[in-house]
Amino acid sequence: MGKITKVIARQVFDSRGNPTVEAEVFSKKISSSSICPSGASTGSFEAYEKRDKNRTDYNGKSVFAAVKIINSIISKKLKNHNVHNQEKIDHILLKLDGTKQKTKLGANSMLAVSMAVKKLSSKIKKIPLYKNFLVKNNFSLPYPLMNIINGGAHANNGLQIQEFMIRPDSAKSFTQAMKMCFLVINNLRKILKNMNLSTSVGDEGGFAPMISSNSQALNLIVKAIKKSGFINGKHISICLDVAANELFKKNKYAIHSKKFETVSKSILDYKKMIKKYKIKSIEDPFAENDWLSWNKFMNETSNKIQIVGDDLYVTNLERLKIGFLNQSSNSILIKLNQIGTVTETIEVIKFAQNIGFSTIISHRSGESEDTFIADLSIGTNSNQIKSGSLCRSERVAKYNQILRIEESLGKNAKMSKL
Ligand code: PEP
Ligand code: MG
Repeated sequence: MGKITKVIARQVFDSRGNPTVEAEVFSKKISSSSICPSGASTGSFEAYEKRDKNRTDYNGKSVFAAVKIINSIISKKLKNHNVHNQEKIDHILLKLDGTKQKTKLGANSMLAVSMAVKKLSSKIKKIPLYKNFLVKNNFSLPYPLMNIINGGAHANNGLQIQEFMIRPDSAKSFTQAMKMCFLVINNLRKILKNMNLSTSVGDEGGFAPMISSNSQALNLIVKAIKKSGFINGKHISICLDVAANELFKKNKYAIHSKKFETVSKSILDYKKMIKKYKIKSIEDPFAENDWLSWNKFMNETSNKIQIVGDDLYVTNLERLKIGFLNQSSNSILIKLNQIGTVTETIEVIKFAQNIGFSTIISHRSGESEDTFIADLSIGTNSNQIKSGSLCRSERVAKYNQILRIEESLGKNAKMSKL
């Protein structure tokens, strides 16, 4: 049992209210669907997201062409193929597209189908989705990286850095991890209120107060950690996503203030910040083509903190291999829609784990109710998951799914390695 009988697609909306693709794959009367997410601070090497730029009715943001591709070309090609053979199906999609950055079909149409196929396979096998990836037993649960102050392209305050996150390092279970994050976020809300700062949130559910310096944001978080009864750097660690692509001009960076500085000065300021705030992880500290600065930063921090490539690698095996050879980082962020199929994503995760990189499964700033990444994080024993703050249902949905899986694993549930 498990032959694909048809694939249909529709235009739905993401958490920013932008159109996106939902695909539904059928095997007779059984079906599963999946929704493709969308980024705001995208890397230029990401797979292509197909939008109807020539149409004006949705300001060029509709995805009707991608929907049509699924309903016509993809549906016809996948008919009668075995839904359990994910690699073969993804290979058919790749061949059908035939371009380097998936410009013909669009990674949004391909990924929505690829994820829906994986879900349907689990449904027909009557196993939970997380059991249908790499790991078959001995599952571990990821540590949440909760983005609690939003800046950069995800908010309209003056913060240079895009994401200020917390990671509950001392948590012994995912339930405890959630409780720790809950306490810090609640206390941060109180602190902001007392200071007459806004408690409204950004795209990923983190607070977006009108502050404009990194140190102001970091001081607020340190205060909230303390108020919650935890020690910064021991129980809870502060982690950052700088998204430095957005802060780069003519070989200089405006990371630590609005002023553009040299790489050496930026590294010096990073080191001061790491020491003062006990920062444990920094994502995209430099721009996507600035391999030399990444390597310099790795050498100067001597593997003491997690350095994560997001826009640098764009979940692309070729780029990860370059990063490995250049010693650019020790961790990779995994976003399915940066590459466009489940099979390619799994290949990247496997390679990263083999070379000793930590793997962090990530949402996009434009998300949906789809919880695929929660299962993926457990089904690949990934170390961490980044799904925004404990706010906005499209973010919390992923954490809630991990809580359900933790419950079903019972006493076999354990946390991943950090
Ligand atoms: C990120 O940069 O890690 C992120 C989640 O944002 P976006 O989806 O906008 O790339
Ligand atoms: Mg990022």
